[in-house]
Amino acid sequence: MEILPEFKVSLTRVEEGETAYPINDDVPHYEYQGRRTKLGGDPDWEQGYNEYPCCNECKKTMSFIAQIDSVEHQWKSNPHSVDCLSDDQKWMLGDVGMIYVFFCLDCLETKSVFQCG
Ligand SMILES: [Zn+2]
Repeated sequence: MEILPEFKVSLTRVEEGETAYPINDDVPHYEYQGRRTKLGGDPDWEQGYNEYPCCNECKKTMSFIAQIDSVEHQWKSNPHSVDCLSDDQKWMLGDVGMIYVFFCLDCLETKSVFQCG
């Protein structure tokens, strides 16, 4: 088991009509890779198709809790960018992938899904 570098996460509630980071046609999606970690809202599916899991107990679609990005993705606008050719880059989930965390609020069951680009 590898222990990844620790990051402190600061939370800001998103106002109605806003998103955790800008999503529009003016900004290419790759501009935000590495900076898409968030709680709640809708998952920003890496593959463009949704993979909401169902609860093993009640069989209902589970609630989206969080997505965890490849925090150290090497990119000029990413404040946590780490040289991808160095041994220092630890927070890289596959090929700039993302982990999606789901929870059944009734049965208290959790699942995660992984997608990468
Ligand atoms: Zn359930």
